[in-house]
Amino acid sequence: PFTLSARALSLKPSATVAVTSRALELRRAGVDVISLSVGEPDFDTPAHVRAAAIAAIEHGETRYTAVNGTADLREAISEKFRRENGLLHAPDAVTVTSGGKQALFNAFFALLSPGDEVLIPSPYWVSYPEMVALTGAAPVPVPTRAEDGFVLDPEELQRRITPRTRMVVLNSPGNPTGAVFPPDVLQAVAAIAMRHNLMIVTDEIYEHLVYDAQQVSIGRYAPDHTLTINGASKAYAMTGWRIGYAGGPRQVIGAMNALQSQSTSNASSVSQAAALAALTELEATERFITQARAAYRERRDVMVAGLRALGLQTPVPQGAFYVMADTTPLHQDELEAARRILDEARVAVVPGTDFGAPGQVRLSYATSLDNIREVLRRLALVTASA
Ligand code: PLP
Repeated sequence: PFTLSARALSLKPSATVAVTSRALELRRAGVDVISLSVGEPDFDTPAHVRAAAIAAIEHGETRYTAVNGTADLREAISEKFRRENGLLHAPDAVTVTSGGKQALFNAFFALLSPGDEVLIPSPYWVSYPEMVALTGAAPVPVPTRAEDGFVLDPEELQRRITPRTRMVVLNSPGNPTGAVFPPDVLQAVAAIAMRHNLMIVTDEIYEHLVYDAQQVSIGRYAPDHTLTINGASKAYAMTGWRIGYAGGPRQVIGAMNALQSQSTSNASSVSQAAALAALTELEATERFITQARAAYRERRDVMVAGLRALGLQTPVPQGAFYVMADTTPLHQDELEAARRILDEARVAVVPGTDFGAPGQVRLSYATSLDNIREVLRRLALVTASA
């Protein structure tokens, strides 16, 4: 009775589904699988944020807000961009979305047309190429190397520019690599974007989760060419609240608002009140971030040392909460390696296939140290028989 649309059919089936459903199957059968496949903080949303949401419900902040978010929240985001990122976006050059994901989706649909090309450093977060392709534009991967800590080489970017190139997507700190691009790389990318009149869409959702590196916003170097995307999910452990935001040129923000007004309208009013607390009750928020960052750093160090001791090579990720491990000692094919790790070690990881990372798997360390130590013990059994 129906035909699925060409757009729906164009979505690539996820290679990770096979591993994920096998993990669920094992769990249902009573096997204790430890999952390192999730992309979310294991901490609770901080108390002051939860309290603000409850107060908002009690005070009747339960109606539609402006499509682009409440004036208070956009003011707080504008101030946050100035304070933490050195970016000047007035409240009317800011928009609030249902998660960073919607901000990215709106941005791509506001800026891309069929036939355009979009440069995306690889390994990349799976949603970038999929969303870009939905607009009819073509994602163009720009490879980075584990030996370089997956940091982008601006010359590789430059080499892939054609007359059709319209945009560069950056994600630093990055999922799945944990790479943080240093200021000189960002400056070089900004210069290329200005020279070739490209838009930079920079996803800075992991900005607070940096360990040894310095996180800089590329928008400082190319303000007229940059749309900065961020959100509450990772910084404040608010994945379920669905709050993202963007700041950039007014025309782009206006087009994003128009798209949102005809699709989802405002992000949840209660979640906006919660995000406002995260962005304005700074002392409590800073305390939370500091603790979370320290915990992630310790977990990262244990994970990286443990993986290396097992012969699974990984660069030291500078940010976010993922490591990419070279699993070719277990199997040349990362899907098979992930399957072995699941079946023999009862640990769920994500094969790099969908990230443009052959021969590697992604492990999240947003889990307890106890879990990480247990994972390493279990992996030792697999690597010993490799
Ligand atoms: N960007 C990156 C790189 C991510 O890893 C994620 C979530 O996994 C998001 C954006 C989207 O997060 P949210 O839609 O929860 O804000």
